Amino acid sequence: MNTSTVWFMDARSRRFLESTAIKGLQILEHSGWMDNLKAGDIVAVKTHMGEAYNVGYLRPVIVRAFVDALKERGCKPFVTDTTTMPYHPWISRTLALDHLETANRNGFNHASMDCPIIIADGWLGTDDVVVDLKGRGNYLNRQFVARAIADADALLSLAHFKGHPAGGYGAAIKNIGVGCASKRGKMNLHGALAGDKPLIQAELCPGRKCEWWKACEECCPEGSIQITEKGLEIDLETCVYCFACANLCVNMAGLHAIQRFDYLPALGRRIADSALATMMTKEPGRVFFINYALDITPACDCYGWTDTPFVNGIGVLASFDPVAVDKGCIDLMNEAPGLTNSEAEEFHALAPGSKKLNLIKGKDIEQQVYGGMENGLGSAEYRMEVVPLDRSQRSIGRFYPEGVRAKKLKPMYERNHPLSGLDTASFGKPTEGVTQPIYPKK
Ligand code: SF4
Ligand code: SF4
Repeated sequence: MNTSTVWFMDARSRRFLESTAIKGLQILEHSGWMDNLKAGDIVAVKTHMGEAYNVGYLRPVIVRAFVDALKERGCKPFVTDTTTMPYHPWISRTLALDHLETANRNGFNHASMDCPIIIADGWLGTDDVVVDLKGRGNYLNRQFVARAIADADALLSLAHFKGHPAGGYGAAIKNIGVGCASKRGKMNLHGALAGDKPLIQAELCPGRKCEWWKACEECCPEGSIQITEKGLEIDLETCVYCFACANLCVNMAGLHAIQRFDYLPALGRRIADSALATMMTKEPGRVFFINYALDITPACDCYGWTDTPFVNGIGVLASFDPVAVDKGCIDLMNEAPGLTNSEAEEFHALAPGSKKLNLIKGKDIEQQVYGGMENGLGSAEYRMEVVPLDRSQRSIGRFYPEGVRAKKLKPMYERNHPLSGLDTASFGKPTEGVTQPIYPKK
């Protein structure tokens, strides 16, 4: 197995230039990835702009820093994501229209990013290309990749590393595996086109005694659900396995009449296949992965809530290899102590070295990694290289191109000082311990 390089900078930030937004950029520059790009290249910056009311997604300021760097190189970046499957009844990103509204609300728009925001699979998620995996897939033979991402010259994946209910965890592989698949690509990777169906336990449904029965019928885009006085009737012929009803039943009714989150053994490997399909749309060296292992929460940013993190700030990891960078995050997460008042405490995963998400999810969460190793997406063997912070004047000048902003105040103060004409001593008494106060006289 090949050994991939994973670059790392820790999350601690105590001084200028230690912002994790700047660290991500320093890692990117250190990696040399941008040397593979040329002026005029269209670069898809793939990130998750957050579900409505989720607060765990990557902050817009982080994404904007990368957009700025790409534009400095003369590239044409756009920030992108795709329509959802939908996944739950109140999802706010199933149409491009809704997705753009939600992104705007969450701080992502042309003004904040200084580049277009493009929902890469179009209005309803059918703007895609079909990629033939040439027999390399664990489960998939072909996959639908969102058109705008497939057509871009290069792809920069910016992912928040966190847990995921069905996929085990979400980071680089999932960001391009699920996040770059069109809506029908998402149906494919969840097994719908292969005939998989949700696991139904109709005997658990109390019928119209369930206060959510109407929402349950309405959330099905196929009209496959009927709730009668007696219980649940579901037409599995028309069901496309979109998870809307499953999430309603589990999260609102608190039942498992329609669910399969604990029985999705192939999902991780299908995600890895889908990630491979996305990679196959690009020349070698044209895709790069940055994972932010910060505020690691048990569920993904697709939900309309964000639980307390069970591990907090680890750092920024980056690689040309999505498998290696994800494995690096998983290993560092497991090495870290868990946090109290989180699922780490609830599931006895506080100890450093405990396999936190395995304990929390009750399963081996590394299926995406195994799938990616098997289909040749990447390697789980990695060498972690700590990138030193560039704290030089050149670096400060890069992030603060206008120089020392405060110097602008001097001539202004000379003309019109904010304290001029005030009896400054009348505004309060000195702090205890200051024995010789000197009031500013202006
Ligand atoms: S029955 Fe199938 S298609 Fe309908 S909401 Fe449930 S999972 Fe989706
Ligand atoms: S949410 Fe679950 S329990 Fe409620 S009506 Fe639907 S299937 Fe039945």
